[in-house]
Amino acid sequence: MTKILKNPGAKEIKSAAKAILSGKLVVFPTETVYGLGASALNPGAVRKIYKVKGRPADNPMIVHIAKRSDLFVLARNVPERAIDLAKRFWPGPLTMVLKKSELVPKEVTAGLDTVAIRMPANRIALELIRQSCPIAAPSANRSGKPSPTALEHVLEDLKDVDIIIDGGKSKIGLESTVLDVTKNKVLRPGKITPQQLKAGIQKSSRVAKSPGMKYRHYAPKAKIVITRKSDIKNLIEKYKKQGKRVGLMSKNYKYNTDTNIIVGNEKQFAKNLYTNLRKFDRKNIDIVIVEGIAEKGLGLAIMNRLKKASSKS
Ligand code: AMP
Ligand code: MG
Repeated sequence: MTKILKNPGAKEIKSAAKAILSGKLVVFPTETVYGLGASALNPGAVRKIYKVKGRPADNPMIVHIAKRSDLFVLARNVPERAIDLAKRFWPGPLTMVLKKSELVPKEVTAGLDTVAIRMPANRIALELIRQSCPIAAPSANRSGKPSPTALEHVLEDLKDVDIIIDGGKSKIGLESTVLDVTKNKVLRPGKITPQQLKAGIQKSSRVAKSPGMKYRHYAPKAKIVITRKSDIKNLIEKYKKQGKRVGLMSKNYKYNTDTNIIVGNEKQFAKNLYTNLRKFDRKNIDIVIVEGIAEKGLGLAIMNRLKKASSKS
């Protein structure tokens, strides 16, 4: 039986921390998306995460910490730059890939000699980690599905977790920026942009270096078609003629489709993206036409997720 803790106080968080320390799985909120967590120091507990999510064994996890000094416990050869970035962006949506220490089990890193680390900016997450230990956590969805940004998404996707902590809607709604500090490369764009990370880093969202990035991801059952505003009408009509149920997600284009969603500004687009993708599935939409946006700032991360969701493999 899964226990759900709503807006927990110190006592409830303590009980969830105990569960982590005894090798159980706890879903917890972060500012990006919900995480499915286990003790990062317990290989058996981490193996359960792969099973519950249906996650491929070669896709490593992010280890969540609550104090910066844990960087030196989990990683070795930590460069000055990582310390500087941790000062500037933690707690926050930046994950850093560093050489791993002996302490990190291979289950967490899928056999790599690097480990991904971040400090989430969420009261509940930080308290949970403080009361237990570093927590390995991928997003709390079935592998390949859109990441969960609300309790109901977690409930839709996951069975066999011990505790779910409800922290309301995720503030940002998109996964963290992943920066490989050892190579000075952004492996996954996110809220923190390459510009913010400063000079010297190449954008490489196209490179499938972050092991998880090679899979079809963030995808609803519906097929996603990204297009320009001028082509929206033609596409809708084409698919309607084929007898498909068509959905539309755009800046301000109104059309008589089965589900029509206005995405708002970039921040709102990001925050509601996964909720909207799941909405199309609930309405049995076959094709979702999406009006693309400029790939800069947060738009880079939004388009990255939409492209992954629309790819066939
Ligand atoms: P998730 O938490 O499921 O949204 O995904 C975590 C992301 O971090 C995935 O894209 C992983 O491939 C990536 N990641 C985790 N550990 C590493 C690592 N050691 N090297 C490169 N990428 C990593
Ligand atoms: Mg994920």
